[in-house]
Amino acid sequence: MLRSINQITYAHEFQMGNMRVKQPLPSQDLEQVSPFILLHHAGPDQYKPGEYKNRLGPHPHRGFEPVTFIFNGKMHHRDSMGNEGFLQAGDVQWMTAGSGVIHSEGPSEKFSEEGGTIEIIQLWINLPSKHKMTSPKYQDIPSSIIPEFFEDENKIHIKLVAGEFKNINGPASTFTNITAMMVDFEKDANFNFPVPSNQNALIYLLEGRLKFEKSEIVKLSMIEFKNDGEEIQFQSLEKGKLLFLAGEPINEPMVNYGPFVMTSPEEIKQAILDYEQGKMGSLDF
Ligand code: MN
Repeated sequence: MLRSINQITYAHEFQMGNMRVKQPLPSQDLEQVSPFILLHHAGPDQYKPGEYKNRLGPHPHRGFEPVTFIFNGKMHHRDSMGNEGFLQAGDVQWMTAGSGVIHSEGPSEKFSEEGGTIEIIQLWINLPSKHKMTSPKYQDIPSSIIPEFFEDENKIHIKLVAGEFKNINGPASTFTNITAMMVDFEKDANFNFPVPSNQNALIYLLEGRLKFEKSEIVKLSMIEFKNDGEEIQFQSLEKGKLLFLAGEPINEPMVNYGPFVMTSPEEIKQAILDYEQGKMGSLDF
């Protein structure tokens, strides 16, 4: 059975520091698509040499996984566990905030000096309550270890970050079953993605134009599918790129307060207290 569309939402834009951020999830019409909580798409923005210096300074997270996909540019990550990451185009950083971590992120010094284009996606994935207080973990996933697939006469280029495709597994280790694929495509490509019937599925279109049955999908749209089949089929009308996401829903209450995602207001209060008491560690810049 082919899956049909449940709804299409469009990203709204806002300014975060000196980045333009597009946010298709959550939106007015789409609160969350469990386990996916939030998606921020920054860029593509062009910077002159020396122009882009701002870091998003030290801030905490608890109870979920912030995952960063680098489509363009060079980023520098630091956290209170002592992890440091230099990421470039095609790399992914899969962080498990778990019981709490403080991190900072921004362009690398080299990128600031040289300038260039930055385009990244940051995705928040919920953790089931039994794993919310797990030890924080950091997975630096360089592009070189992400399996690649060329489909439909090379018109589709897939990078499998998490989950399974054609009996091959992506490198990210996850707490629940998640599929995450970064996909580039040419015009007139025919897509055929398998998706387990118990998983919610989303497509976020960064660039290009798609045709799905009779609907035309423009860039910066988020397609949420019904759980009515095990296959997703669509075509491209233009060259572009998308992020394909699927995951088992976590059927638990969710309370999201700023950088914390827990299951009750009490747990949020505890998170704030633990952060204020320094239990999530510290980070100088
Ligand atoms: Mn963060």
